[in-house]
Amino acid sequence: MRCDLLVAGAGPAGAAAAIAAAGRGLRVVLLHDPRATAWPGESLPPGMAGLVDAAFGPGLLDEDRHLVAYGTRAAWGSDDLVETDFLANPLGGGWLLDRARFNADARARAAAAGATMLEGRLEGIAAASDGWDITLRDSRRIAARFILDATGRAAAVARRLGTGREASDRQVALVATLDDADPYRGTSVEAVADGWWYTTPLPGGRRVLAFLTDAGLLGDGTAGWARRLEATLHMRRIAGAAAGAAPRICPAETAAERTLHGPRWCAAGDAAMTFDPLSSQGITAAILMGARAGAAVVEALAGETSAFDDWAEDYRTLQGETADLGRHYALLEARWRDAPFWARRRMAGS
Ligand SMILES: Cc1cc2nc3c(=O)[nH]c(=O)nc-3n(C[C@H](O)[C@H](O)[C@H](O)COP(=O)(O)OP(=O)(O)OC[C@H]3O[C@@H](n4cnc5c(N)ncnc54)[C@H](O)[C@@H]3O)c2cc1C
Repeated sequence: MRCDLLVAGAGPAGAAAAIAAAGRGLRVVLLHDPRATAWPGESLPPGMAGLVDAAFGPGLLDEDRHLVAYGTRAAWGSDDLVETDFLANPLGGGWLLDRARFNADARARAAAAGATMLEGRLEGIAAASDGWDITLRDSRRIAARFILDATGRAAAVARRLGTGREASDRQVALVATLDDADPYRGTSVEAVADGWWYTTPLPGGRRVLAFLTDAGLLGDGTAGWARRLEATLHMRRIAGAAAGAAPRICPAETAAERTLHGPRWCAAGDAAMTFDPLSSQGITAAILMGARAGAAVVEALAGETSAFDDWAEDYRTLQGETADLGRHYALLEARWRDAPFWARRRMAGS
């Protein structure tokens, strides 16, 4: 199989990139690993509906499929759970996504825009005279003039190219889903001595509960889940049924590739850089920078040598701003100033 652009990975970044490139006339193959099923990450902050519409076309954020969030609640820097109501927000409500549905709809939009959907998993990549010779797990081969890494934290292309990735923390998430019994329509967050919790209602009467900490502070792994939940002030009430749940451990570190693009390749979304889930920026950054990367590929293949310059600079600016925001949130939490989790984040970058 031959194409101009192989987009590896069909999450939000990959689907947005495929639409941008196919809509500009490139022959695009969007590689989707059908075994990908569970995604942590479900909240879109207020004001992001326009971005989703611009990348995928109108109608993806549909109230029949996803929930509108009416606010957030946080016990952060104080024992009280303080509500911020989106009603007073000029940008409107946020969204709480059914991620499997959102990703499937985004892939369908990419196919409608002209991208060829291909199920498979990238296993190998070798430079060829006019681009890349790509091998899938089942030994199928693809010849592509350009490859865009949208494989999420796996960064399957960038890692194979050996570009190097720098992490600023070793955060992990313990994530469980459960039946929802709390009426509040928004994300609730609670800081604790060695990390923080969040819980969010999901479409279909479900709820996600996650505990984030540094890998070295987890000690007993998932075994301490119920004990840690019981020690919270608010999470045990909002998502108490999760005490009996079996959480899974997900990587949640903040990290970035040292190089975001090179001759005939680039990375976008989590493959390029990951943000602290506290920022709720991952999905929108993946969509925005994925779509812009897809457009830049068209220019690069037409011979424009500076096609990725502004994009890469904006990506690094976003990385710096989000790191500043992380330090700001750590400074707000003064109850456990000397606890390693908080001290590390206050000191980050200084
Ligand atoms: C605990 C936690 C909570 C989060 N909460 C939020 C939140 O509330 N809001 C928010 O905006 N963000 C959140 N995020 C981040 C968000 O989920 C990601 O930033 C977002 O999913 C990135 O999209 P992506 O398209 O870059 O990657 P992904 O969504 O990871 O998609 C990558 C795709 O590539 C596939 N793939 C991997 N390797 C290969 C391969 N070799 N070949 C082919 N395909 C491959 C994967 O299976 C997957 O389908 C959270 C993250 C974590 C860890």
